[in-house]
Formats: sequence, C-alpha cells, structure tokens
Amino acid sequence: MYTCSKERMQDKISTMSKYGDAGHGGITRYSLSEAAIQAREEFIKRMKSCGAEIKTDDVANVYATIKGSDPSLPGIVMASHVDSVKNGGNYDGILGVISAMEVIETITKEKIPHKHNITAMIWTNEEGSLYPPAMMCSGIVCYDYLPEEIRKNFRYEDMMRSVSVLDGSSTFQEALEKSGYKGEKSNRLNPKDYKAMFELHIEQGPILEAEGKDIGVVTCVLGMVNYRIKITGQADHAGTTPMKYRKDALFAAAKVLIGLHEKLDRLDPDLVYTTGEIVCHPNVHTVIPDYVEFSLDARHEDPKVIRQVVEIIENIPSEVEKCSVSAQTAWTRDTVYYDKKLVDYVQESVDELGYSNRKINSGAGHDAQFASYMLPTTMIFVPSKDGHSHCEEEFTPVEQCTKGASVLLNTVLKCDKED
Ligand SMILES: [Zn+2]
Repeated sequence: MYTCSKERMQDKISTMSKYGDAGHGGITRYSLSEAAIQAREEFIKRMKSCGAEIKTDDVANVYATIKGSDPSLPGIVMASHVDSVKNGGNYDGILGVISAMEVIETITKEKIPHKHNITAMIWTNEEGSLYPPAMMCSGIVCYDYLPEEIRKNFRYEDMMRSVSVLDGSSTFQEALEKSGYKGEKSNRLNPKDYKAMFELHIEQGPILEAEGKDIGVVTCVLGMVNYRIKITGQADHAGTTPMKYRKDALFAAAKVLIGLHEKLDRLDPDLVYTTGEIVCHPNVHTVIPDYVEFSLDARHEDPKVIRQVVEIIENIPSEVEKCSVSAQTAWTRDTVYYDKKLVDYVQESVDELGYSNRKINSGAGHDAQFASYMLPTTMIFVPSKDGHSHCEEEFTPVEQCTKGASVLLNTVLKCDKED
C-alpha cells in the first residue's frame, strides 16, 4: 500500500488558503476571479514540475495529465473545484484538487508504475456563487448524458449568459474570455478518452466525525424533490382590520409549514427536509401579507420515501385560514448511485490501509454526480469538523486529509490495474 505525505498536504492546504484569503480564517474565491486564477496557477506550476501536460477545455476546466506506460488506454481522472462560496472555507472543493495533486506528486516522486494516463482536474464554477447555477461546467460537459429535466437547466447558451450576482450585468462568458483559460472543446472530459472519475470531498455534514470515522465510502447522491408552496390572502391595513376579517397569508403559511413538518417527521428517520427560502409580499410592517411563497426541499435515498413526501405535499388543504394554498414542483432528482466497482475499489483501499470508515451517501450535489451519468464515477469523503461547511469554520485535520488522499491514490492504482 502507498501513502501520501502529510507535510506536502499541509503545504498545499496552507498555500491554497492564501488565494482569496478573507482575513479571518476563510476565503472568498469566486470562479475565474483573480483569486481563483492564482489557485489555478499554483496547480499548474506544481503539476508541471511533476511532468504533467496541461490542457484546458472550452469552459476553462483544467486537466493536468501524467502519461501511463500505455497512453493508448483511456485515462483515470481525479477532479474537484477551486472556487468557493462567499466567505467559504479552505476545504470544500479545493481539498479534492489538492488530493489529486498529491496523488500525482506521490506517483511521480515514488515512481509508482501505472499503465493508464492519470489526470488531476479542476472543474470551473462548481459553486455558481457568482455566476449561477451550481455545477455549471460539469452540467455543460455532461449535458448529452443528463436526464432531460436536469439538462434543460444547463444549456450552453444560457450558461454563457449567466449574469454576475454582484454587478448584475457582466456575464460568465465575459469572465471566461478574460480568464485566459478558455481552450478547445475537444479537450472536454469524455467517456472515450477516460475510463473513470474520482472526487474526494469533505463530507459537509456531521456523521463521520460523530461516529469517529476517518473515511466515508460514498455510495450515492440522495434523490430529492423541491417544491414551492404558495399562499394567497388579502392585503389590508394592519391597524384597521379586525382579526376575524383577515386573510393573512403569512399566518396561513406558518400553519401550513408546521403541518408539513409534523407529517414529514413521522416518515423515515433518514429523511431530511428544509424550508430555506420565504417570500412575503408586500413585506411591510403595517400591511397584512397578501402573498407568501416558501420552498420545501426533501431528500432521501429511497424513492418510496420521496413518493410519501410528494403525497403529503400534494394533500395540503387548498384553503387555510381563509387563504388559498397551492404547491408546485420546482424540480426533482432521482438518487444517483455511483459505480459499484469503483465504490468497491474505494472500500478495498480503505480496508487495506486500515482506516476507520463507513458507507455514506451525499446529501449535497457535486460535479461527480453529473460525471456519473457519463462515465464510471465515485467519491471519497473525509470528515468535516462539527459538520460545518460553506462557512469559514470549515476544517478537516491534515491527518484525515492525508488519509483521504492515500485512499484516493490506492483506489486510482486499483482502477489502473484492472485491464
Ligand atoms: Zn464542493
């Protein structure tokens, strides 16, 4: 068994955390921003020093490839992202890129023989925090392989027109042209030139840490439904309208929300559900609200449980507190299972290395999820301290980061040996 270097991992984590340093422990590193370009330059510098060949595709995804003894075989790719959310941490995405770099460095330094080309890759704009949507460039690259209801959100032309949430006018296409990283469409990840993709990522939840496990062997990305619940009442004066005459949409929405939680709570204990967004009109303290809309996101591996959720939502009474209530599906996604053989390679590697582990699913979306529609793919999770992610408190001890990289290395080597 081969292992990666803790010192080199720490060096990479510390170096990358400088790019976009927000000054209080975390980073803001929007895709294709100056900070993200610096992280890319660091990646390229280090990969070139390992003898890797660098390519970019037409949406600025970067591929650093070391040749195998039989370059005619399809390659193995390890990929994640260097962009972050606003005031994000030093681990989401970038740890997957750092681990891929460390695997390439270890293979090169220790002259580990391998037949297939091995690639470390950066996906552009995973977070979509400056130019929505999230997972934009894996959506573009995997477009032909995605189910229709997903791919309709990732049309190339629409993505190019995505507007900056900061200035409301500059587009993703402009950022792409300016970045200097726009390359050839023919360099895109594809199922002919590549045989497998791996993504190491932080868990972004509390399970591994709570159970004292070093590695999560990821099996799937949870299926989900996303609804908009809409409540219409009547706007009136807050001082002159007696309570019994009111049609208060916000009060009705509160009752609907609590009713939903009480019912959903009785379903499977692994079900997670969230109302994270609420719109209240006119949102003025002297006016009784006439319109409220809120989101409901529910996730579970088993489609039977998701169907129970849908049934509960679709049976919301059409009138609550004299207000009319309706529910609309915003979008749905079936559970995406990762490639069974690759999941087994991860499990074998973890077991052989003797690291504590458990099978785990991913409640969050990742580029690997889109890649898995196109070619055999799987993921490896390492713990997130206190379950925190998408915030500056994000942390994973370097020992666990290194264990993750070592699992990635041995998994790639197992995949290399199979044909
Ligand atoms: Zn991520």
